[in-house]
Amino acid sequence: MRVPAKINLHLGVGLRRSDGYHELTTVYQAVSLYDEIVAGPAERLTVTVEGEGAAALTADPAAERDNLALRAAQVLAAHAGVAPAVALHLRKAIPVAGGMAGGSADAAGALVACDALWGLRLDRATLATLAAELGSDVPFALAGGTALGTGRGERVTPVLGREGFSWVLAFADGGLSTPAVFAELDRRRERRPSLRSRPDEVLAALRTGDPAQLGPALRNDLQPAAIALRPALRRTLQAGTELGALGAVVCGSGPTCAFLAGSPQHAVELAAALAAEGVARAVRRVSGPVAGARVVPG
Ligand code: C5P
Repeated sequence: MRVPAKINLHLGVGLRRSDGYHELTTVYQAVSLYDEIVAGPAERLTVTVEGEGAAALTADPAAERDNLALRAAQVLAAHAGVAPAVALHLRKAIPVAGGMAGGSADAAGALVACDALWGLRLDRATLATLAAELGSDVPFALAGGTALGTGRGERVTPVLGREGFSWVLAFADGGLSTPAVFAELDRRRERRPSLRSRPDEVLAALRTGDPAQLGPALRNDLQPAAIALRPALRRTLQAGTELGALGAVVCGSGPTCAFLAGSPQHAVELAAALAAEGVARAVRRVSGPVAGARVVPG
């Protein structure tokens, strides 16, 4: 299984609901940065991790227990009335706690991989319902492409548009806690109320397919809160803009930043310039949109 990371081209955050989640209007795009999930036969449920951020996921027994791929296997097994017997192996490329829905990607991958291993053949709609139970971003990780997310992000509707945007991602040192970033936004709004921003400009830009129009339309209501918790992000975003990115935005709750380039060649130049600037732990070039959770041969 191969499952993509997401960026939010638009992330409009509404009020906190009584269940603690915030009402969202978001435009997701799946990008070509993938975690791989392998599900092998086993007597019981185990998970092993390698790659980007693996140490953080396995150092702490509580973090290992809370692993979203593991929970996905349990939820699927309970739904189907089978034993949760599977050896899950995650090869990670998506940064942990980076705002790119890496944990959600692993959960989506585990759902599809275990469905195949156990011969359940559940339809995509049932998998999407289980996905929504696991986390707000998990249904989108299944679907991929470009999509409008509503509710707490779990209700996804495809957005049609042209293919082939070129992005440069700047990975940061360490992650940010999503609940902490939402809580910071709530605190800021107590002092200075602000409305949920609307996705209209991003949707209009996607219809034209013109990166020069999409760049300035990128918007994330969580960005000021993420910057308040991680002030270095301001410098990273500014560096990308000064180096010629068409748009710069924090991914989800951060701290990864995404920069839009005008072409694949422009992305190569922008990535090199950003790396030289030393404002990121690592720089990656990706394209979007790409498909959601998919079985890959080998
Ligand atoms: O759904 P998920 O488990 O990924 O969400 C993680 C946390 O992020 C939630 O517990 C909540 O604190 C915050 N969140 C939110 N509103 C959303 C999505 C997430 O407040 N729409």
